[in-house]
Amino acid sequence: MIITNGKIVTWDQPNQILEDQAILIQGGKISKIDDEANLLAQYPEEEKLDANRQYVMPGLICAHTHFYGAYSRGLAIPTEPPPAFPEILRDLWWSLDKALDEKAVRSSAWVSIIDAIKHGNTTLFDHHASPNFISDSLDVIADVVDKSGIRASLAYEVTDRDGIKKSEAGIQENIRFLQRLKQGDTLEGRLAGSFGLHASLTLSQDTLEKVRGALDDQFGVHIHVAEHISDEYDSLKKSGMRVVDRLNSFDLLNENAIVAHAVHVDAKEIALLADTKTWVTHQPRSNMNNAVGIGNVESMMRAGISVCLGNDGFSNTMWDEWKTAYLVHKLVNQDPRRMGGYEVVNMAVYQNADMASHFFGLPVGMVKEGAAADLIFVDYTPFTDLSAGNLPWHIIFGMQHSMITMTMVAGKVLMANRQLRTIDEEKVMAEAFENSHSVWEHYNSQF
Ligand SMILES: [Zn+2]
Repeated sequence: MIITNGKIVTWDQPNQILEDQAILIQGGKISKIDDEANLLAQYPEEEKLDANRQYVMPGLICAHTHFYGAYSRGLAIPTEPPPAFPEILRDLWWSLDKALDEKAVRSSAWVSIIDAIKHGNTTLFDHHASPNFISDSLDVIADVVDKSGIRASLAYEVTDRDGIKKSEAGIQENIRFLQRLKQGDTLEGRLAGSFGLHASLTLSQDTLEKVRGALDDQFGVHIHVAEHISDEYDSLKKSGMRVVDRLNSFDLLNENAIVAHAVHVDAKEIALLADTKTWVTHQPRSNMNNAVGIGNVESMMRAGISVCLGNDGFSNTMWDEWKTAYLVHKLVNQDPRRMGGYEVVNMAVYQNADMASHFFGLPVGMVKEGAAADLIFVDYTPFTDLSAGNLPWHIIFGMQHSMITMTMVAGKVLMANRQLRTIDEEKVMAEAFENSHSVWEHYNSQF
């Protein structure tokens, strides 16, 4: 396939916006970028996709999400309003996850992935929990990844909060799924994985020891760290160490490990995350919603940590996460010079692309020869100069997800002219709605 007639944002280093160039896509990858007339003359038989003067850019990447949270939409917590994050966990998430059976896991993956494709996401890192349907749950989600055409990394969150049997089952589910990946069953490179852990505060020393024993060095953990201050105090009580030191004492931090949030880590923990080359993900909308505080991600980046941007299961509108990151650090620090557009792009574009490329084993998140053909079209008409240099501010102040008209993953068009191509959306939504009744009933029955 040849993409013609687009203004191509490469998000390479340095970023460029190419005019009069076309992109040749073969075998799911970008195989050539060249002068449009040349490319058309060289490959006259190739199918053409006219970008119609839209911006063509790498698809959005989400570094940390929860498909299983889909059924929280519109759900009322039947208790007094939770005063802090530990009560939000108890009254919302740890009750909702128990209400998910196989059907609900499948449906929540479908609706989340549909939402993602419609808003221009092409790669997502999911973190899953369904304590009453653990075994094979990652295969159910992987089946949706397969059928939908998206690129995703999956993990099952091991936790002791539902008893030792379920903790053990979570460990086994990660082992089973990662073994599948190791044997090469990766949906032609669209499927990856981590060993999921909930958070230090629901993991005992024994369980962390078991995880270390079960973890193949080819993979790393994906865990929430110091999202709320209670995680640090719990860790100090259990082990005499802060959370990052505690995880490091089990040798769980390395270039394959993903740490979500890191809101309350101290300077020593930041240094340790940098030394171990651990990926950190930042989710400012979730942090604001849970009122947990906001991680000092500018310092983390200065310390050399690769800080990526995720959505933590909020709507899959990653540009909203960009905009929130851009705004909240200014407010918190009462300084409009904080978190500039380039810092946002560093997380959302470059670090996310680095992490995706590391996990999927090929360049992802940039337009260059050999990279994954994961692309979007954006129907945006600037009324001021737009250059590679000021593009971050055009995105933050000008671009909206409603302008995304086409989403492609691995060379396959998943949405064209805002219509899903590979998914019967009406049928999937009807099934999800049907399942929602039993999920909400099960959730409410616990109070
Ligand atoms: Zn999360």
